[in-house]
Amino acid sequence: MHRSAGGPATATCAGGIARQAAPVSTSVPTTRSTRDTGAALMADKSAIEWTEASWNPIGGCSVISPGCQRCYAMRLAGGRLRSSPKYRGLTEPSKVGPVWNGDMRLWEKALDQPLRWKRPRRIFVNSMSDLFHEAVPDEWIDRIFAVMAIAQQHTFQVLTKRADRMRRYLEMRRGNNLGLRWAAAAVNVLGLGRRDIGRYPGIPLPNVWLGVSVENQEHDVRIRELLATPAAVRWVSLEPLLGPVDMAMYLEQDPLWRHLALDAPAALDWVVLGGESGMHARPMHPDWARSVASQCRAAGVPFFMKQMMVDGMMRKELEQFPCDLQVREYPNAS
Ligand code: SF4
Repeated sequence: MHRSAGGPATATCAGGIARQAAPVSTSVPTTRSTRDTGAALMADKSAIEWTEASWNPIGGCSVISPGCQRCYAMRLAGGRLRSSPKYRGLTEPSKVGPVWNGDMRLWEKALDQPLRWKRPRRIFVNSMSDLFHEAVPDEWIDRIFAVMAIAQQHTFQVLTKRADRMRRYLEMRRGNNLGLRWAAAAVNVLGLGRRDIGRYPGIPLPNVWLGVSVENQEHDVRIRELLATPAAVRWVSLEPLLGPVDMAMYLEQDPLWRHLALDAPAALDWVVLGGESGMHARPMHPDWARSVASQCRAAGVPFFMKQMMVDGMMRKELEQFPCDLQVREYPNAS
């Protein structure tokens, strides 16, 4: 049973964990209490607390694990946006509401959007899809990485449940001269000049944070895949958190993990955590969050508390969390 988090926290909490400055934008991350659905689509700003903008060059997905059950993107694409050309036909009705049908759509018009944004910002890539969905051709992913490579003023936050494909894609592209693939995409598809290609950084792209979404311990294999993926920053989103998760082995490069992984294992750079929102939301015990926060603190890994139920209400404002969960930190990325 879900237990109360102990009453609403207030700004009078003492001893909370200090917030680190966000590494990219000069603005402090917002903690608006807007709904978590429609606002996530407004590309130039986002209501998602850990990002500043969303970029959706691809629409569509399919349910892969329990964390997808109440996927906000699915409900939005099959609800309010079901008549829009971008999302039309990507879901089917069912007894429990709209469900993704597995069709994917590349939205060419959105592809170069970050190149037109001059002010640096953190950008959530594909909040309405999964970039590494099995039906997304490698060539589409190439185009998206080409944009991320060129738009170095931004920080891109990729989040997937298909961690195995993400690892395979990046390993394959690295082995086959990923720079050339992206350069081809930039010239042939995006219509950019060779001058832009010359500005490509090497692998891993320093402005791309690769992340996986994990809802319980059963699916922590995604973290192991992530740790074997070339990335400048590796992060995990534990949302919706559906059970306790032992993160210890992923937060530090301990000898046992090194022994098992053999090949220079990494550790996580950032952990985001949140409970499920909306009607019939599955409960998150606050102690699950406390445990992860404590593990992160012990390992020195930045932790970001996104949202949780307090006294029967979904809270997204930092001050409304219990004192020991008033933590919103970011990785120290360059
Ligand atoms: S993988 Fe993500 S976008 Fe796809 S159904 Fe699951 S939660 Fe939704």
